[in-house]
Amino acid sequence: MYPTVYLRRDRKPRVEIGHPWIFGSEIGRIAGETGPGDIVRVVNHAGAFLGVGYINDRSQIAVRLLSRTDEEINAEFFRRRLEEARSLRRQAVGKDSDCYRLVYGEADGLPGLTIDIYGRYASVQVLALGMERWTGVLVTEIRDMLSLDGVILRNDVPVRQLEGLPLEVRFAEGEFNPVVEVQENGWVMTVDLWQGQKTGYFLDQRENRAFIAPFVAGATVLDCFSYTGAFAVHAAGYGAKQVTAVDISPQAILGVRKNAENNGFTSTINAVESNAFDYLREASGGGFGYDVVILDPPAFTKNKHSVPAARRGYKEINLRGMKLTHRGGYLVTSSCSYHLSREEFLGVLAEAAQDAHRQVKVVAVRGQGRDHPTLLAAPETEYLKFVVAQVF
Ligand code: SAH
Repeated sequence: MYPTVYLRRDRKPRVEIGHPWIFGSEIGRIAGETGPGDIVRVVNHAGAFLGVGYINDRSQIAVRLLSRTDEEINAEFFRRRLEEARSLRRQAVGKDSDCYRLVYGEADGLPGLTIDIYGRYASVQVLALGMERWTGVLVTEIRDMLSLDGVILRNDVPVRQLEGLPLEVRFAEGEFNPVVEVQENGWVMTVDLWQGQKTGYFLDQRENRAFIAPFVAGATVLDCFSYTGAFAVHAAGYGAKQVTAVDISPQAILGVRKNAENNGFTSTINAVESNAFDYLREASGGGFGYDVVILDPPAFTKNKHSVPAARRGYKEINLRGMKLTHRGGYLVTSSCSYHLSREEFLGVLAEAAQDAHRQVKVVAVRGQGRDHPTLLAAPETEYLKFVVAQVF
């Protein structure tokens, strides 16, 4: 029997609504001994069962729920969760892609865990102490479930420190060349699982990359914040005449060149190592333009305090992007800042349009791909905004 965590009577009914987090301030008392990462039963102030989860009293999020059933947490439990996660991806990920997010933490009932699949390899991120204990079990389960050749742990994310966890990158299964080739929407992308950003690649935009097809045929395209050129390669593949990819990171630019070469687009894709803010400013001052401008910057804010500064950043690049877009052309613009809502992002775009003296027709507002589902009760799981707009 697991120790029991009694919640206070005077808390908000977040858990009842379906949110998996319990903050330390919501705990009334604990019956039994608990250590960091232990499995606990959670009940309300009157003892009514709410769920089973793991506890870490050193974290702000004291308990994260794994299950709403009074059950044992063991390898069999994780196998079931992984199978559930896999069944969605089987239906939601096209046959022309072999890279996708298999587990998106809270949304897949596995809080604090990210598992990205890259062909025959998995890149795993464990973000919470209670999940860390199960790493060995999880690695074995996914290896067997998907007959993987290797699993890498990308536990070099700073949020781990909030849980008292060390930062490290290591092979958990097999020793393999971490530079792998995957298929995305039929295009070949090289991903460096050891040194690449995040788990190696930005899988959340897969469906949006395919979505640009009708807008880029025959077009001149600017792909700003290109990373390894995923949008650039898609644009070239869908018939763009000329594509310029801009990123500040030299490794990313090497990646663009490699991906351009592997897909046969060396004469179409031009990779430029530059600060996108400078590039956009100089280009829009230089009087030339593009038929399609793609903006996919990193999150400009990771907390509420820096939202105003982030808004200025988004406004700046979108204003420049609009100015650079030929009349009747398209601005394809993203924000992955959770703290800037969809409405706020559209508001920033409206301000940018006003200052750029351009009329902007919104064609589509989309979010992250279906392999990054959102948990209705946990708005934190929805972060990506992707807007296609025609600019006049
Ligand atoms: N569009 C990419 C993902 C972009 S992630 C894709 O589809 O895969 C954000 C990228 O912005 C990173 O590659 C990072 O190196 C780059 N970046 C961050 N600050 C930048 C800046 N000021 N100018 C240009 N690139 C920048």
